[in-house]
Amino acid sequence: MVFLASKKAMSLVRLSQGLRVVWSRRPTSLRPCSLVTCSHKNRYASLHPLWQSPITIPGGSRQSPINIQWRDSVYDPHLKPLEIRYDPASCLHMWNNGYCFLVEFEDSTDKSFITGGPLENNYRLKQFHFHWGAINDWGSEHTVDCKVFPAELHLVHWNSCKYSSFEEAVMEDNGLAVIGVFLKIGAFHSGLQELVEVLPSIKHKDMLVEFDEFDPSCLLPSCPDYWTYAGSLTTPPLTESVTWIIKKKPVEVDEDQLEMFRMLLFTSLGEEEKKMVDNFRPLQPLMDRMVRSSFPSQHRLNIEAWSEEHSQRASQQRSLKGTVHL
Ligand SMILES: [Zn+2]
Repeated sequence: MVFLASKKAMSLVRLSQGLRVVWSRRPTSLRPCSLVTCSHKNRYASLHPLWQSPITIPGGSRQSPINIQWRDSVYDPHLKPLEIRYDPASCLHMWNNGYCFLVEFEDSTDKSFITGGPLENNYRLKQFHFHWGAINDWGSEHTVDCKVFPAELHLVHWNSCKYSSFEEAVMEDNGLAVIGVFLKIGAFHSGLQELVEVLPSIKHKDMLVEFDEFDPSCLLPSCPDYWTYAGSLTTPPLTESVTWIIKKKPVEVDEDQLEMFRMLLFTSLGEEEKKMVDNFRPLQPLMDRMVRSSFPSQHRLNIEAWSEEHSQRASQQRSLKGTVHL
C-alpha cells in the first residue's frame, strides 16, 4: 500500500532529546475505497477511517493482496534474479501516518533502487512499511497456501524510467514495484531493532522523526526466491499499477519486537487511544491471473505448460459460449 501525503503538509511541533527531530504532519484527506467485501468489517465495531469513505470505485480485475497457492504458481525460468541497490544515506525519516509506520527515502535520483527480476526498468525506493495483527495468529496481507503470517513488510518502489514522480507512477501501468516479505516469530532481528527503538518517538498519528543511515536490505531474507504477479495497492486509491515481488522465505523477528509495533496508535495526541493493529486489507480474488515463481518445484508447472493449458481452456470456453449463443 502507499500513501500520497505531501511533505509540505508537515509542521514542526517539538524537538526530541538528542539529534532527532519530531514533526507533525497535518491529516491528509480521506480517499475513496473500493473494498466492497471487507471480510473483517464485522470483526470490528468501526472501520479505520481509511476505509470509511463512500465506495466509488468498482472492484478491478487485479486487486491485492492474494493467497499464493504453491501448486498453482508457475515456474518461469526466464525470471532473472532481483538486483537490490540501496544507499543507506538516502533514508530520510520515519513517521506514523495513522494506519501504519513508514520509513521514507530521498528519491530525486536513483540512489536506492531495484532492477532485474520481473522488472524491465529501474524502480526507485520511495518508502517501506509493515502490516501486522493484534496477535501473532494473523497480520500479513498476502498468504501462502492460506497460511497467514503475523506481519508483512512492503518496500515500495516507482518506475523512474517511465515516470517523473512517485505520484505520477502510482496511477499508471507498470508504475510501481513492491517487495513483500513475511515476518514470523523466531530469533531476535538486529536490523529491525533499529526501527523498534524509534517507535516510542512516533507513538501517535502524524508524528515524524528523522531517521537516516539505514539500509533496508538488512530486512530481506538471504534466499533469492520469490513469486511475482500483477496486482494493486492494498490501500486507497487501490490502483492496479503494482508488480508484486513476494519473497518466498520469511524473516524471523523476536515476539517482543513485534509487540512494540502494537504499542503504536492509530490516533493523534489528545484523542481517545486506539491501538495500531490489524492494519491489513483482506484477500482479494486471483481471477484470471498467473503467479510466477523464480524457483522450480516438483509440484510446479512450467510456464510453457501453463500457457498451453490456459489457451486450451480459453478456446473451450469460447466454443461453449458460441454454442449458447447459437
Ligand atoms: Zn503495504
